Order: sequence, then C-alpha cells, then structure tokens
Amino acid sequence: MTLESSDVQMLSSTLCLSGQGVVKGYAIGTAVVMSAASLEVAHYRVAPEELPAEHHRLIDAVATARKDLQSMAASLPDDAPRELAALLNVHVMLLDDPVLIQQVCQVVTERQYNAEWALTTQGQLLAEQFAMMEDEYLRERAADIRQVIERVLRVLSGSTAWLPNLDAVASDSLIVVARDISPADMMRLRGGKFAAFLTDLGGPTSHTAIVARSMNVPAVVGMGRVRALVRDGDLLIVDGLEGVVLVNPSEPVLAEYRQRQAAYRRERDALAMLRDAPAVTLDGIRICLEANIELPEEAVAALAAGAEGIGLFRSEFLFMGRSDLPSEDEQYEAYASVVRTMGDKPVTIRTLDLGADKTLDDEEAVAANPALGLRAIRYCLANPDIFDTQIRALLRASLHGEIRILIPMVSQMHEVRAVQDAIERACIALQDRGVPYARNIKLGAMVEIPAMAIAIEPFAEMLDFLSIGTNDLIQYVLAIDRGDKDVADLYDPMHPAVLRLIAHTINVGERAGKPVSVCGEMAGDARVTRMLLGLGLTGFSMHPQQLLDVKKQIRQAHSNALRVKVASALNRAERIDLAALSG
Ligand code: PEP
Ligand code: MG
Repeated sequence: MTLESSDVQMLSSTLCLSGQGVVKGYAIGTAVVMSAASLEVAHYRVAPEELPAEHHRLIDAVATARKDLQSMAASLPDDAPRELAALLNVHVMLLDDPVLIQQVCQVVTERQYNAEWALTTQGQLLAEQFAMMEDEYLRERAADIRQVIERVLRVLSGSTAWLPNLDAVASDSLIVVARDISPADMMRLRGGKFAAFLTDLGGPTSHTAIVARSMNVPAVVGMGRVRALVRDGDLLIVDGLEGVVLVNPSEPVLAEYRQRQAAYRRERDALAMLRDAPAVTLDGIRICLEANIELPEEAVAALAAGAEGIGLFRSEFLFMGRSDLPSEDEQYEAYASVVRTMGDKPVTIRTLDLGADKTLDDEEAVAANPALGLRAIRYCLANPDIFDTQIRALLRASLHGEIRILIPMVSQMHEVRAVQDAIERACIALQDRGVPYARNIKLGAMVEIPAMAIAIEPFAEMLDFLSIGTNDLIQYVLAIDRGDKDVADLYDPMHPAVLRLIAHTINVGERAGKPVSVCGEMAGDARVTRMLLGLGLTGFSMHPQQLLDVKKQIRQAHSNALRVKVASALNRAERIDLAALSG
C-alpha cells in the first residue's frame, strides 16, 4: 500500500520532526521524555479567601503525583533499567518530604502566589541550593527536584501527557527522547528494551549514535528541539534511515509505516541468507569483514552476522558507568569471554580510549579541548597503573585464543615504544606472580591522527597491523567536532583530503605487508563500500548489524575497475562521484 493523496494531507497535519538518522530501522512506540524542560506556568495572585482552597489544590496534586510515581515503580517491567526504579523512589522520597510542601504552602500564604508559581519559585531556590553543594551526589539532586516539581505542575495543569502506563505498553515500544545521552547514560539505558532513541544534540559518529547502533535500535540525533516538542506518552513513528519522526500520526499514516516496518524486516531476513557466503569481489579479491563491539556480550551478535573476527572491541565501555575501576581479574574474564565466544577467530581489543566525551564517573570534566587533550593512549601512558592492569589482563586472556592489541590515538613513535615497554613490564609482573599468559601478541595502532597517516611508513614497519579510525581522522583533518550538530554538515567523509590519507595508509601498509582495515563508521556504510574497495581496502570492521549490507555490495563489485576510477579522481583531488562507481 502507498499513501493516497488524502492520507498525505493527514500526514501534513501530523507534526513531523527531522534530524540525522544514525541507526536504520523503523520504530513505532510511546515517547518517554527524559528530564523534560521546565513547564511554562501561570502566574497569578490568589485572593485571601481562596488561599485555603489553593493549599488543598497543591496538597492534592502532590498526593496524586506521588501515587503515580509509586504505581509506576511497582509496575516496571523486569527488563527495565535498575536505575529507573531507584530514580522513581528518590522522587517519591522528595515528595514525602514535609519541608518541601510546607515551604511551598508558606509562599502561597505569604505572597499569595498561585500554587504553580509558588512551586516553581521554591523549586528554583532549592535546585540552586543543591547545585551549589560540595558533595557531587547532593549536587545531582538538583535535577531530581526540578523533575519532581515538573511532575506536580503537570498534575496541577491537568495535562494528560504523562509517562505511559507501563502496564499497558510493552517495554520494547518505548522511545527515549532526550537532550543528549552520554555514553554512560546509554550504558544504563541499554539494560532496558527501547524501540528508538531521539536526541536534540549529537551527530552520526557521536558516541550516542555508536552505542545506539551497538544496541541495534533506530536512532535520530541532532534534532534540535525534539525534547521540547514531544511530550511523554505521545505516539511516535521513527524512521531511522531518513531521520524523520512523526508525532501522533493518523491511522492511515500508522498503517503505511507498519507496512514499511514489515518490508524492512523482510529485507533483513533476505540479507541473512548471505551470512555464510564469502566476502569476495567479482574479480576474486578476498575481503575480511570483522565486527566492532562495545561489550563482551555483543560478540554473539558478531558471530551471528558472520563476522570473521572482532576488528574493534572498545574496551573503555567496561570502565564507564561505574564508580570504581574494573580489576585485572574482571577485565581478564571480560576479554577471555569474547575470545571464547569467537573460538578460532581473532579478537582485536583496543586499549582504553578514555577522554573526550568518554570519562570515568568520578573524573572532573575534562580539559579545555578534550578531543585534543589527555585522551586514549596519552591518558594511559599518564596513568601507568590503569594501563598496566589492562595489559596484564589482555596477556592472560590471550591464552584462550588470538588477541590483538590495538592502541588508540597514536601520533608518535615513542608512544608505540612506550606501549611495548608496558607489555614487557606486564610479562615480567605475571611471570613473578607465576600467572600464565601468552607471548608474541600482535600489536597494532589506530590511524586517526592526521600526522600519523601522513608519516605512516615507520609505524607500518614497526607494528603488526593498522586500523584506520575514520571517525576521529575526519574530525581532526577537517577540524570538525564529531559531536557538534552545528557543524555536522561539514563533517565530510568524502573530502579528498580524508580519502588521500586513507589511500596513503592502505598503500604503505600493502607495501610493508601489513594488514590495514577501517574500523570507523565509514566501514559499515554500504553507500561507500565500493569507494573504499576503490581505495584498495581489504579489511572492514563495523557494527554487526551493518555487515551483511556491506557484504552484499562487495559481492557485486569489481575491485580493480573501482581502483582505477577512484585513483584517477584522487590524483586530481576531485570529489568522488559515488553514483559513477555503482554498476
Ligand atoms: C574512530 O575514531 O574511527 C574509531 C573507530 O574510534 P572511536 O569512534 O571509538 O573514537
Ligand atoms: Mg577514535
């Protein structure tokens, strides 16, 4: 079925929002707005004889809000994130606090403010007091106060927009709407089953997008004002490919999208047939397709998609969303479990890439320009205790199968040497403790700083393999913050300068006999697969969900013909016309 013109009419009366679709797929579900913006409230003075009634209005609204929260906490599905229940309980406790209500009643009496005005005034004051507290935990309670006040204000306003009745709504049809979701928050959210993520901020390679992709959940980011325009309980259609969100659509529009969703699922099922087919081009070039993962459990999805190994395990996600550091044993278990899952397939584990927007929970926010600061290998070399613990865990886990160590954000040869020294130190420490470990572990580096790509030769000689991190490489070559939606249109993977650096790295790697792969988001974008083949790329690592789309492209491509076309455009520093590469 396609839309009739009358339905298009209806579509045009549906609120339609757009942003950048970063994870493909359709979702139809109910909005859950995270920390909604303050409500606009009526401000008026209450006549003295009306004051007792105003007090009652306030006390009743608090009681209703409290009851709603309690029943919500009681009806949370088993698979809802644990934090959600804790948060709801904190909010119930705040509403239980007699001081809060007494103070608001006092403002009503003394200043003759209406209940809403008194609540916002007092709430603002309290939130400011909390925000100034030394203790970080207490400081964070400022947001809880704001959220609790908003809840009471909604009761007062008689708004029907409310958190959905979680009894009535299957948990996997909830759509998270937020200003932004930090990687640590995503870690918490990934425990729950959500149908989609929508955020005001972020770009296609922001870590929010990457984690959403790892959860295989449609996501639209950089929407600008989605949190302000969507209310809790709104029915939403999300098109993660086009980056479109329809709010409270009409029945015909809903029916159309249900069909599209079903067709998309059928297409995925057809692709699944390619799982065991080899990734070979029409002219016989064998391509290695590996998977990117963030958590050990995701190795199962990598295998299911037919990945030939793990090309990038972002180990920092083991360190985030918690207040302590994972011990050597805990890390060993995590790495070993991936290796065991992957059997005889190689597992590339990237050492900690903390810094920029990925920080430990207890770390003060970050340097003046975190993307250029103490990040990744720089952070590790400055914190040898943390780094050495990770290396020891990696060496121990590699007894169970092939582990390759990948160093992020390298720009200098002495950083590689420092890592080699750290590996040596770890061997000696394990030997002293009599703990078994594997030697001769392969060492590679991410190529994501332009300086390294430009002067790649000695790195290609010294290291066992190279993996191009296009997400950061593009950011640094073009001076575009990858998470800043205001410059997202300038984030251009197809810029000839970026492609020349990729081509140069591949060529030098080829000459040195060292494998080169791409593990940035470009590797999983089937629209540029042919172009990457044309640059001579033979190794791709991507989210498991993208693997079969890319494999399909590879099996229909003629690699040598693509190389000729791409080389001639690059020689002239021209933009490559993707359409000219297809067919
Ligand atoms: C990259 O920069 O391309 C990459 C794969 O690493 P991350 O996205 O984790 O920075
Ligand atoms: Mg990177």
